Amino acid sequence: MANNDIIAMDKRHAWHPYASVTDPLPVYEAQSASDVRIRLADGTELIDGMASWWCAVHGYNHPDLNRAATEQLGAMSHVMFGGMTHSPAAGLCARLAELTPGDLNRVFLCDSGSVSVEVAMKMAMQYMAARGDPDRCRFLTVRRGYHGDTFHAMSVCDPVNGMHSLFSGSLPRQFFAPEPGIAYDGEWDDTDIAELAETLRANRDEICAVILEPVVQGAGGMRFYHPTYLRRLRELCDEQGVLLIFDEIATGFGRSGEFWGADHAGVAPDIMCVGKAITGGYMTLGATIATDHVAETICSADPGLFMHGPTFMGNPLACAVANAALDLLEQDPWRPRVKALEEQMRQEFAPCAELDHVTDVRVLGAIGVVELDRPVVMAEIQKQFVERGVWVRPFGRLVYVMPPYVMQPDDLSRLTAAIREVVERDDDIRQDAP
Ligand SMILES: *Cc1c(COP(=O)(O)O)cnc(C)c1O
Repeated sequence: MANNDIIAMDKRHAWHPYASVTDPLPVYEAQSASDVRIRLADGTELIDGMASWWCAVHGYNHPDLNRAATEQLGAMSHVMFGGMTHSPAAGLCARLAELTPGDLNRVFLCDSGSVSVEVAMKMAMQYMAARGDPDRCRFLTVRRGYHGDTFHAMSVCDPVNGMHSLFSGSLPRQFFAPEPGIAYDGEWDDTDIAELAETLRANRDEICAVILEPVVQGAGGMRFYHPTYLRRLRELCDEQGVLLIFDEIATGFGRSGEFWGADHAGVAPDIMCVGKAITGGYMTLGATIATDHVAETICSADPGLFMHGPTFMGNPLACAVANAALDLLEQDPWRPRVKALEEQMRQEFAPCAELDHVTDVRVLGAIGVVELDRPVVMAEIQKQFVERGVWVRPFGRLVYVMPPYVMQPDDLSRLTAAIREVVERDDDIRQDAP
């Protein structure tokens, strides 16, 4: 089919993420992808700065991941997980238990990041109900968070940035504390968590858990905060008998320079959500991992089981690819790779900080952010990047990259140079001043 037919069909019938169907932004037709490059239908090759929303950490079309998928396809692509198990799923659960800190030993496989957040929140509510505290069913979180687009996940997203005010009538009302204010490498001060501590103490009888993204707040603003925040938060939750949930969907599997965001602080949550990079970007999969204590408490009381079970739970194809992706993380020196990306991005993004309309440049692990003073004009800035042979998709005032870990220095240089060039054009890539 010709390229314009596909674009025309898409324009007529497809609905894109957070997009209008009546006033659509341009879309580009991807035809294939390998290593760190996405090839468009017109032959353009783009160096991928997004890893397809944090996921494709090993690059595209990886021979090991391809082999895992095709071998599993030959055995069985799916069987129900009710009453059955298989080596891809059981193996993955054991592995995640091994990789996660503390007593996080019980793994609930599910469909996506958002669903893993829903599952975590249901676990926290069932845990309190099992302990005879069914009224402790609300959550405390920090502003500027992002936890997904399903209903309970939306309820703990930033109430302003989250764009969910439309649904506020049907969203459960949660408790919000200010976002962590001290930067990752700033000087810690206990006042940063004082208001959260106060809200927690004052409302502990209604709160079952605190949920947040450890160290990196992703889609809510790409902010990196001080790890001591998490140590204090762990102490506060223990003191108040409240569960702690870490949403590691974006931070997990090395992205921030440590295997887990939690590792920056050396603390373990009671429940952890993972997703995104778990299959190396091949397909959707999430997991919610609970401590033995949480899991056993839930099952110790009526109805004696956890009330959730997606149709495609434990999908063998997804689990097989996830196991192969974890093999790669084990064999491949991801840590020095991420470190090298971090150092190179620090150097190469530094000149952006001198531009008048750039308000901040920050890098942590394989995440680089150039923050502008005004929101970008998406159609224009996207075109500018594609013309320079790179794939970068900003949001709001944030031009950011999280490249595949396997990106080589010369490709990363082309990516950062393109960003510098495009961001320097302050005339047409930013929205007008209000
Ligand atoms: C992407 C993301 C989610 C949602 O995951 P989906 O797979 O898109 O449902 C939740 N939490 C965080 C921190 C994320 O980055």
